[in-house]
Amino acid sequence: MPVALVTGCSSGIGLATALHFARQGYDVWAGVRNAATATELRGAIERERLPARPLALDVNDEAAVQRGVGEVVAKAGAIDVLVNNAGIGGGGPIEEVPVDFAQSMFETNYFGVIRVIRAALPSMRERRRGAIVNVSSIAGRVAIAGHGHYSAVKHALEAASEALAQEVQGFGIRVAIVEPGVVVTPIFQKAKRFAEPSSPYAEHVRRLLLFYQAQMKMASQPDDAARVIYEAVTTKEPRLRWLVGEDARLLIAGRQRLSDEAFVAGARPMPDSEYLAEMKQRFGFEWQ
Ligand code: NAP
Repeated sequence: MPVALVTGCSSGIGLATALHFARQGYDVWAGVRNAATATELRGAIERERLPARPLALDVNDEAAVQRGVGEVVAKAGAIDVLVNNAGIGGGGPIEEVPVDFAQSMFETNYFGVIRVIRAALPSMRERRRGAIVNVSSIAGRVAIAGHGHYSAVKHALEAASEALAQEVQGFGIRVAIVEPGVVVTPIFQKAKRFAEPSSPYAEHVRRLLLFYQAQMKMASQPDDAARVIYEAVTTKEPRLRWLVGEDARLLIAGRQRLSDEAFVAGARPMPDSEYLAEMKQRFGFEWQ
């Protein structure tokens, strides 16, 4: 039975991915930072009698990562698939987000991923096989005003993933980056946002909401992301990047048609009605 370690499995994409791999016959180790939040995971495992179990794994904690990855390797013998999914959302305009919040986002969404990769790679290299999937975001390709730090951390993750893919290919290890658009998960309720109504950037914050509303009309479900992650691991035609959702496809295609200057100018001060018309023309987003 191949072994999969998935991080951040208490809810959303991680929960769906852990269950999907277990339903496909993987021996799943489902990382959760807090055992008390694993109720949905435990319930599904018990109900469906799946070959999976929660694993204590806070990606911010080096000792917990070493312990958790060590436990999987010791008990299951190997890690065939590592899905780095754990992450947090939130943020705001660059000037308004305290640096320590931006650091905490890097701590989890970037260094957390790097910690788990560093812990898992020696055994993968030794066996000369394995797959690593890093859950990025379409924000890892396109940066949007009001969401700069999240975009920055996902851009950083994409760069590291691209370098890693080159470094480990000779050891028979595959790396894939999964880039979802909006997926309906609790991340939006958990996210800390820095956006005062009196902010000099209030227009960008309002537009970011409009942007999300448009994406929400095309939003994916956690199971959609889980299926793409599974395909990225099992495909006979490996690729580095995998999009999830129609909104992600529209965004990337629209961004590639624009020069950097035209993209930046699209966020200039203008009435919302004009902004919405531009977004429709640039990306094909519908608001009605
Ligand atoms: P979610 O439901 O909030 O799931 C995030 C998971 O990460 C939770 O299980 C959370 O645990 C866990 N986590 C957070 N910090 C952790 C830490 N320090 N150590 C271990 N686990 C930690 O959100 P989601 O939308 O499924 O997000 C999953 C991934 O998809 C993230 O990397 C996110 O950036 C990415 N993504 C999401 C979307 C979207 O629209 N939802 C779009 C693009 C990319 P707790 O329950 O303890 O908080």
